[in-house]
Amino acid sequence: MNLFRSIFKPVKTDMRFCDLHIHTVFSDGLLTPEQVVIKAKECGLSAIGIVDHDSIGGVEPAKRQGKKEGLEVVPAVEMSCVLGENDIHIIGYYIDYKNKKLKEFLADIQQKRVARAKSMVERLAKQGARVDWHRVLELAGVGSVGRPHIAQVLVEEGYVSCYDEAFWKFLGYHCPAYVPKEKLSPKEAIKLIRRFHGIPVLAHPMSYQNRAMISFLIDEGIVGLEVWRVEHTENEINFLLNLVMIRNLVAVGGSDCHGGRKGKILIGELKIPYQYLERLKHAR
Ligand code: AMP
Ligand code: FE
Ligand code: FE
Ligand code: ZN
Repeated sequence: MNLFRSIFKPVKTDMRFCDLHIHTVFSDGLLTPEQVVIKAKECGLSAIGIVDHDSIGGVEPAKRQGKKEGLEVVPAVEMSCVLGENDIHIIGYYIDYKNKKLKEFLADIQQKRVARAKSMVERLAKQGARVDWHRVLELAGVGSVGRPHIAQVLVEEGYVSCYDEAFWKFLGYHCPAYVPKEKLSPKEAIKLIRRFHGIPVLAHPMSYQNRAMISFLIDEGIVGLEVWRVEHTENEINFLLNLVMIRNLVAVGGSDCHGGRKGKILIGELKIPYQYLERLKHAR
């Protein structure tokens, strides 16, 4: 066993596990915060991170349910930002989710998301795909409306045969109906997270396929990396753990459950030792 592997070896006596990346209906997840908590408890988890795209709405209901079930709920938000052609997601763990200013800031993002989704639907119409806007809003419900909801309507209305096709045909980057989001830079997102006492962690670091960019984002103020993810290979995990060690970061992980949107529910598919959550708490 190499050095950093042994440093990150969990203590065997602590049998508690967590999943620090779960979405709810407050963004593009299919489960309510209450359902997420119940499912996590069934899977034997001790703590979960409620992580919605640009929203903290799921935190309070999850906390309430967590109290009933005896499950620890870690408040978080997954901020969308843009760097060049990359859509980058930065999680703010332990963000002050009760803060009024933060709520106002996120409400403004939600409004801009609605306008963006509407213009994507208009572009689709020009492509001959007449998507029902009300159905898109209905699917989004209390959540932040986005491409996943439009993709689902494209499937329902038969314009594409599956969810992924909606992205490569219409909604993906460089595709005819794609409209970019409000451009928050990673630096601005990190600043915002810090301003509200959150810990900025880079979500799915390998998805950007740019290892130099990970280092750049650490220079910008990222203090943690999502090391454990279902799709990560042993090599990728070692690469990330090495970075965590040499840059003195925290390592977290989670299922990135969207409640079955990706085929499986995913909660319980990835359990990380509770010890890593303790290190995250120390980083505060
Ligand atoms: P939005 O915030 O509206 O830009 O939507 C982003 C979400 O769309 C991501 O979190 C993914 O869940 C999904 N998504 C983005 N690109 C793709 C893709 N190429 N294939 C499938 N899902 C995607
Ligand atoms: Fe998502
Ligand atoms: Fe993400
Ligand atoms: Zn996510």
